[in-house]
Order: sequence, then C-alpha cells, then structure tokens
Amino acid sequence: MSECIFCKILRGEIPSRKVYEDDLAYAFHDINPVAPIHILIIPRKHLSGVHEMSEEDRALVGHLFWVARRIAEDLELSPAKDPTRGYRLVINSGPQAGQTVFHLHLHLLGGREMTWPPG
Ligand code: 5GP
Ligand code: ZN
Repeated sequence: MSECIFCKILRGEIPSRKVYEDDLAYAFHDINPVAPIHILIIPRKHLSGVHEMSEEDRALVGHLFWVARRIAEDLELSPAKDPTRGYRLVINSGPQAGQTVFHLHLHLLGGREMTWPPG
C-alpha cells in the first residue's frame, strides 16, 4: 500500500472534506488554507507531479482543469459569470517550487485579491 498521504485520503484512511469526486478525480479542502477558498484537485491515479506525467496522462491532467472550472463555477468564483471575480490555479512541481506532497494536485485558490508574482 502506498504511503502517499493523498493516496491515503483517496482510500479514506485520512479524513478529508470532499468537494467533488468522479471516477478520475477527487477534490477536497486544503487542511491549511492560504485563501478563503483553497481546494485541492487530485487524480485518483498516483502521479508524483507534472514533471512525471507521461503522454498517456495528458487527458487525465486536462480533466483536472475541467473539474477546477466546474468547482469554481459552483462556488461563484468564475469570471465567466461575473467579470469582477476570479480564481487562481497553481501546481507546484518539485521542492524548489514549494511542492511538499508528491501526488499531483491542482490548488484552486479564491475569495480574495491575488498578488503577482506569487511566492
Ligand atoms: P504543495 O505544497 O505540495 O503544492 O501542496 C500540498 C498541500 O497539501 C498543502 O497546501 C497542504 O496544506 C495540503 N495538505 C497536506 N497534508 C494534508 C492533509 O492531510 N489533508 C489536507 N486536506 N490537505 C493536506
Ligand atoms: Zn499518491
């Protein structure tokens, strides 16, 4: 069995606050939110990060963005509905980029003004 904490969340061994799930992806609230809305979207398949995705994973990673779009719309963050709104999608790839959990995840951040550059 994988020791990966996100795989443990997928198996229900670590509790999480679910936002969305389907046969390919799972989304839940980050345990340490850095914005009023901070959701993690992960594939059910263990991939350590974008840097280790293979060609066969292209559609799966695209699906994570589709899920993010849907959640953002459900939470009324989408500028498609209200042009003053917005959200940020972040993927940290590797330690220098701040990745701490090596199971690919998309951060969906919203509910406050975002600054640039990040980090
Ligand atoms: P990274 O730094 O790898 O891009 O993001 C990992 C994220 O996972 C962090 O924002 C961290 O707060 C979150 N996280 C780590 N462990 C847990 C956990 O057990 N449950 C939940 N819900 N989030 C976690
Ligand atoms: Zn994993």
